[in-house]
Amino acid sequence: MTYDPNNIFAKILRKELPCVKLYEDEDVLSFLDIMPQVEGHTLVIPKEAACDILQLSTTSASRLIMATQRIARAIKSALNPPGIMLMQLNGVAAGQTVPHIHFHVLPRHAGIDMKLHARQMVDSKTLEPVAARIRAAL
Ligand code: 5GP
Repeated sequence: MTYDPNNIFAKILRKELPCVKLYEDEDVLSFLDIMPQVEGHTLVIPKEAACDILQLSTTSASRLIMATQRIARAIKSALNPPGIMLMQLNGVAAGQTVPHIHFHVLPRHAGIDMKLHARQMVDSKTLEPVAARIRAAL
């Protein structure tokens, strides 16, 4: 698959579109999902232009998983979920909807089902309180 520089996450990386940012360094950006499946649903994306895990360089892959672990630890500290689920989809057949590789970090609680994937958009203002709690734990 050829990388599309006009995908939504590429536009967020270029700051052409807004996001509720949690963390950024020279290799990665992390922000809240605008269609959260659970409270605190977070995305971690590399700055390298790669559609999926197959295209990503090993250097970026290492930095991406290190950043994902850091975000997961901050979510644990901030929200204290009993479970944390990582999700990473490659290809439309696997359910990937944005063709720029990313990890989902999903705080999970027994008995609270996840909402449907990429289905219901929320007002980004409603995400700010949980974002502030996670940022404070980073
Ligand atoms: P995928 O299906 O590619 O694994 O996940 C893409 C995720 O990006 C979905 O969970 C979807 O809700 C989220 N998403 C799509 N567009 C936007 C956007 O403009 N901003 C943010 N923050 N998340 C988005």
